[in-house]
Amino acid sequence: MRPRLLRVCRKCNRYTFEQTCPICGGPTEIAHPPPFSPDDKYLELRMKALRREDGPGTQDMGSAG
Ligand SMILES: [Zn+2]
Repeated sequence: MRPRLLRVCRKCNRYTFEQTCPICGGPTEIAHPPPFSPDDKYLELRMKALRREDGPGTQDMGSAG
């Protein structure tokens, strides 16, 4: 038997082990997605941010995008 994965309803955010929500009947998805995907386009930005934290001076990071 495979271990059942905890899932979460996309509609009402209820946690369940069923593929359909027992509350509203909506679709559920795995509640624990992989930490990152190879296609993560923000990974590079995150790495840069981490490197910045490591450095001594503070750079201008104030631009909100
Ligand atoms: Zn639901």
